[in-house]
Amino acid sequence: MNHQGWPPDLGGGQDGQYGAAMGKTEDGQTAVFVRIAVQNSIGWIEFNRPPVNAFEWTLIKEGGRDYIPFTDVARFYNFTRADFSNERVSLSGATLRIQGGSNSRELYMNGLKFILNFPVIQQGSMLYISRMDLAKLVEPVLRPAKIQTAPVRTVVLDAGHGGFDQGARSALGNEKDFALDVILRARELFARAGFTVRLTRSADIFIPLETRAMFASHQSNALFVSVHFNFGARPDAEGIETYCLAPRGVPSTNDPILTLADFQPGLGNVRDPENIALATAMHASLITRLGVPDRGIKRARFVVLKNDANPAVLIEGGFLTNPRDAARIAAPAYRQMMAQAIFQGVLAYNRAVERSSPGASSEVAEKDHAPAGTGDSVWDPLKSNVYSLPQELHR
Ligand SMILES: [Zn+2]
Repeated sequence: MNHQGWPPDLGGGQDGQYGAAMGKTEDGQTAVFVRIAVQNSIGWIEFNRPPVNAFEWTLIKEGGRDYIPFTDVARFYNFTRADFSNERVSLSGATLRIQGGSNSRELYMNGLKFILNFPVIQQGSMLYISRMDLAKLVEPVLRPAKIQTAPVRTVVLDAGHGGFDQGARSALGNEKDFALDVILRARELFARAGFTVRLTRSADIFIPLETRAMFASHQSNALFVSVHFNFGARPDAEGIETYCLAPRGVPSTNDPILTLADFQPGLGNVRDPENIALATAMHASLITRLGVPDRGIKRARFVVLKNDANPAVLIEGGFLTNPRDAARIAAPAYRQMMAQAIFQGVLAYNRAVERSSPGASSEVAEKDHAPAGTGDSVWDPLKSNVYSLPQELHR
């Protein structure tokens, strides 16, 4: 697997071609509104494509849900190749690869596994991605610099469980103790680098989830990292998964039946773009540095994610029910590597979003300025439509 240059940054000409702006929907949710227009930049010539005035998206409906053909994704993000064969799609460009399959929720971006909110569908020989996944996953991951946010200087580190709540167990120890040890090691690294560090717990005590989330929400210019270890019904379940909050209107990854509760907005949903960008940076850092099986970036509505006003991720750092994971996790040197990976993950996130912040260089600011001639009349799949109920919930 090659994770070089992750999280992906479509730098150079590619990044400046589409003017993007963040907006708030009526109920305060942050959404990406892309003014669709193309400027005659160097990137355009480089990619040797004819200039157009507006990007026309193709939309199909399936089960009441909107889907976009991967050929449109390829054109919009300037991939140079799109291959469709054996019910699979592969897009490739100068620095990026995307791979997916018909009826699958697994999407690989530069070799890193993401679990889609809805499976890829096929009609004829063409494969389609849901509009929700395009807006809430692909867009913020491919263009983190478009997220209107600033790098953080404060981290809230959360060791899962504690006190009577031991979490998962192996013959070599308890989840609560391993998680706290990783967090204390990470605290050292962040503090040494000049970050302000807040811990939800620094000892073996029980703290309710709601209290942890409220504590985290009160920190400004901060992000939240929770560390847990996993329990599997099958002993062969192995590897790391990283969770961030499910967007409004999609099911949790591990509970794929959509319910009305999935339409309740969480405090953390205002951070949808940051959440997936942070999860990407964090998961890539963990998988590449620790060399363990990649179980993917997933969605959940855990209390500490849902009730946190700051960007937040929860790491399931391996299975205490798996012999290989359990032995790794019990080794202090491995937990130190995990703390390092968490630290590097936050640095990678900060770098990825830096270009959108007020302190970014004037060259970048000028380049990101929306070009003249917007295509307001053009239908825009990046404008999320999470508030319409899908067919199966209409009764
Ligand atoms: Zn746990």
